[in-house]
Amino acid sequence: MPLHIQTPLIESRPLSDRTGHSVWLKMEIAQPSGSFKARGIGYACEEYFRRGAKRFISSSGGNAGLAVAFAGRNLSVPVVIVVPETASKRARELMAREGAEVIIQGKSLSEANAFARSLVQPEDAFLHPFDDPLIWTGHASIIDEIVDTGPKPDVIVLSVGGGGLLCGVIEGLNRNEWQDVPIIAVETQGADSFAQALNAGALVELPRISSIATTLGASAVCRQALEYSRKHRIGSVVLPDKLAVSACMQFLRDHDAVVEPACGVALAAVYERVPALSGYKKVLIIVCGGVSTTVDQLQEWSAVMQ
Ligand SMILES: *Cc1c(COP(=O)(O)O)cnc(C)c1O
Repeated sequence: MPLHIQTPLIESRPLSDRTGHSVWLKMEIAQPSGSFKARGIGYACEEYFRRGAKRFISSSGGNAGLAVAFAGRNLSVPVVIVVPETASKRARELMAREGAEVIIQGKSLSEANAFARSLVQPEDAFLHPFDDPLIWTGHASIIDEIVDTGPKPDVIVLSVGGGGLLCGVIEGLNRNEWQDVPIIAVETQGADSFAQALNAGALVELPRISSIATTLGASAVCRQALEYSRKHRIGSVVLPDKLAVSACMQFLRDHDAVVEPACGVALAAVYERVPALSGYKKVLIIVCGGVSTTVDQLQEWSAVMQ
């Protein structure tokens, strides 16, 4: 039994009417842990458990930690999660509610990550939020489901933090012989580690994360994301936080669902009809979800970003 569910794939009337594309939504927000992380992290946790892991350790800005906590509870494996100071109180509470021990340490994901690694004992499994081939293989099930239920999209729009989702989607496209489907990788300004790596042709370490989309706040993407960019057609789009938040608000009105700005930025690329999308008919957005944001928080951000 996998630790994720098969999510709905729906054609969005509001988004299609507004943009002129045929817009399809893969609703990862419906996962039990509130984001697509349930797939890759769930798969990795099951695999490490099968190999004999007695405890799961993770560092995470929120949704990855929550997915580990969820997996640990379901597999009856104790979980320790180290989060940076930037992680939301809400995400920390949700992880604790899943029975995980939550430790706050470090100013950034990479500092929390270093501390989490220092805790790892020989019988523990360390779950990286995005840089692990098992996680990519687990995320790839998103594409298996789309292949099963169709239709084949002309382009896939997704958010990039550390690039785990991107690598999983490309692995899924490859294993289903859909390599010809291009990807638009969207980030917020101030968390654009993938765009900067593409520009530099090498991994770039961001000195700090200045976006409210802390879920996208990996200071560098995984190497595999950059390698895939040399083989797979990937367009890069970077948008300001303000557009990510207004897309979250519009999505709430259109589909009655609350998503994080980390997800809103992918929606914003479509709502704003970025030039990278012109010419495509069937546009599929991975509605990656996220539990760290509330309606109140979205309204607060909207008010200050006017
Ligand atoms: C983790 C996450 C991302 C970014 O995924 P990466 O694999 O780090 O690129 C985007 N949105 C949400 C909601 C997430 O939980």
